[in-house]
Amino acid sequence: MIARVITDISLDREFDYLVPEELENSIRPGSAVEVPFGNSRRNGYVLELAESSSFGNAGKLKALAGLSGSRAHIPEKLITLGKWMADYYCASQEHAIRTLLPAAVRSGKVKALVSRIFYLPDQKAAEQFIIDNADAKRVVKRVETLKLMLRLREGTLTEISGHPEYSPGAFDALRKAGLISFREETLRRDVFGDAEVVPGKPLPPTPDQAKALAMIDDIFEHKVPQHVLVLHGVTNSGKTEVYLQSIANAIRRGKSAIVLVPEISLTPQTVRRFRSRFGDQLCVLHSRLSDGERFDEWNRINSGEAQIVIGARSALFAPLRNLGLIVVDEEHESSYKQSESPRYMARDVAVMRGKLENAAVILGSATPSAESIYNARLGKFLLCRMAAQVADKPKPVIRIIDRRLDPIPEPGSSNLFSPALIDAVQERLERAEQTILFLNRRGYARSMSCPACGFEARCPECSVNYNYTYSRRREILSCHLCGAVVPAPSVCPECSSPEIRYHGSGTEKLESCAHGVFPGARIGRMDSDTMRSSADYEVVLDKFRRGQLDILVGTQMIAKGLHFPGVTLVGVINADHGLSMPDFRAAERTFQLLTQVAGRAGRGDRRGEVIFQSSKDSEVLHFASELDFDGFENFDLEFRRMLAYPPFTRLIAIVFRGENESELANFAAGFASALEPYKHDNMRITPPAPAPIERIKNKYRYLMTIRGTGLKTIREAIRVLALHRPHPKGIDIAVDVDAQYLM
Ligand code: ADP
Ligand code: ZN
Ligand code: ZN
Repeated sequence: MIARVITDISLDREFDYLVPEELENSIRPGSAVEVPFGNSRRNGYVLELAESSSFGNAGKLKALAGLSGSRAHIPEKLITLGKWMADYYCASQEHAIRTLLPAAVRSGKVKALVSRIFYLPDQKAAEQFIIDNADAKRVVKRVETLKLMLRLREGTLTEISGHPEYSPGAFDALRKAGLISFREETLRRDVFGDAEVVPGKPLPPTPDQAKALAMIDDIFEHKVPQHVLVLHGVTNSGKTEVYLQSIANAIRRGKSAIVLVPEISLTPQTVRRFRSRFGDQLCVLHSRLSDGERFDEWNRINSGEAQIVIGARSALFAPLRNLGLIVVDEEHESSYKQSESPRYMARDVAVMRGKLENAAVILGSATPSAESIYNARLGKFLLCRMAAQVADKPKPVIRIIDRRLDPIPEPGSSNLFSPALIDAVQERLERAEQTILFLNRRGYARSMSCPACGFEARCPECSVNYNYTYSRRREILSCHLCGAVVPAPSVCPECSSPEIRYHGSGTEKLESCAHGVFPGARIGRMDSDTMRSSADYEVVLDKFRRGQLDILVGTQMIAKGLHFPGVTLVGVINADHGLSMPDFRAAERTFQLLTQVAGRAGRGDRRGEVIFQSSKDSEVLHFASELDFDGFENFDLEFRRMLAYPPFTRLIAIVFRGENESELANFAAGFASALEPYKHDNMRITPPAPAPIERIKNKYRYLMTIRGTGLKTIREAIRVLALHRPHPKGIDIAVDVDAQYLM
């Protein structure tokens, strides 16, 4: 028997090893193994088992060194999924396999947390020792310790040593004498804090929910050819309740389930809701877990102790057996795309995993992606609409305020608020209602320049089209491309003029202007500058929820999923902001964001009002202000069809990076010409050229895109070229299949 093994350094090559006879029964695809490699040993995973080696004479092959006991095995279905990802996303096998297992598990270095519980193995012997030594001065401390242990019965060293009778010397002596012994218990690192959870029961489904649940049952029972359901429901239509009940149905059928949510909405609120329904059956996986916590959660899943996993993108690879259901909440989110190799789209990989495992997949959203709507129109996916909110509330009143018609602000005053928005906020303050102000940019200002000499502050290592973001509170300029931070100058670095100007506004400025415009209002801010940890996040949210803040200012962090019944007004400072991005998804993203932000208003008893400030006319804003998803989708799909953009085609972006620009341009051109033979009529290729972001951290970036239908062959060629053809030192290639951003 031959094992085809991928090791942690072999990149895209498999190595064949002989399987020693004694391992033949225990080895399988996914087994963690140790293999001889040159003069050393390497860790690897078995990709497949074969009868004969593809490298010819099996007699020359080395034998596996053995199974690795300390590292986890990968379930076979996941190995298949990993191979598919490597192929489809043009990634190396090694990178794909690596994604399947958290580093904490893969390394074999993190151990289960074991605690020693000390106890008296023989209580009679202990009592006898106390009687025998009642007057012995020499062992007073031992007697005391034994009396303590008789009282406590058992405990960890931390618990025992907290008592005044404890003495380390006596304790050791008693252990050596065998009067005290210990047993080991595996502890679960507690990822939930110890917050009490009130068990919750399923709610009687609304007609819409009943319809959705019936469709999912049809998938469970294979009564329909499709295995994917697009659940298109406005916020508050009861989607989450559908997830909860279909998970319960899957469990009832002896299956397990995965729920993917965008990292940003994986709040304690969300987790609590799932925990209250499923208790200890639930595992949570997200990026804020420590290695130890991740290790424990992963093992709880792998051992079958937990059947339900909720988590961000990577939770898709949870090693559940007998998977019955995958839920992808907010399926339209571009954060489901991984930015490093393998650059997979979790939504699409979920559909693939569902197919491999015969599981149902629910793609839920208030604003489904064009891709999913298109697949539903083609009949590849089922579609279920939930048009009504559970507690039927009047829709918010949405107004578009054209900033071009506003009076010109006095010099020196801020231009962030239109008179209409000021009035609306004022009204809320008078009625003790709450307001959310949304601006999709953090920081105080977007750029800094000197009117005297024309100097403009820019990150020296990055593209000229992007300026620093200025934070006034921290007195710094930061580059949002490379993260570099420099102190903000107080005079012009070129001509020493003190007249430095800041342009463009971020949430920090919005907050400070709001203080000026609404004196006395209690204002909080939420963006990635103020939120250093999830604790910060909870503090601000909690204050707002309790009504201790009147106005919450923030970036997209506050757009999603949060429920504040006290909010009756949402103001979007520049609703047209995203529309000018050079990206065919700009309209879609803007529509989604505005719909979501608007959904924050009027979740309580009072009707909500929403104001979109804009300096441009746009159909997208009109569709958003009418909450007209169908209208928007027809408009957007028509535009994409005409220009042959996804979902009508597939799009592959290739970014070449290197420090030497002419060398890079040459190399990229050579790469493109190697693809010439694979070109055909249903394909458009934009040859390599400087990317919209030309330079990050002193590395030039060239972008090439390929879009069309029937890309399989060229994709395979790209994969081989990018991974296997030698390229000059210092140049790297990032292939992004189904790219979300073309920057
Ligand atoms: P969504 O996920 O679409 O925003 P949720 O499932 O969170 O919607 O439901 C919105 C609100 O309605 C929640 O407070 C939820 O508890 C409540 N709800 C959902 N389904 C029902 C139901 N069948 N009966 C009563 N209340 C429900
Ligand atoms: Zn100057
Ligand atoms: Zn930079």
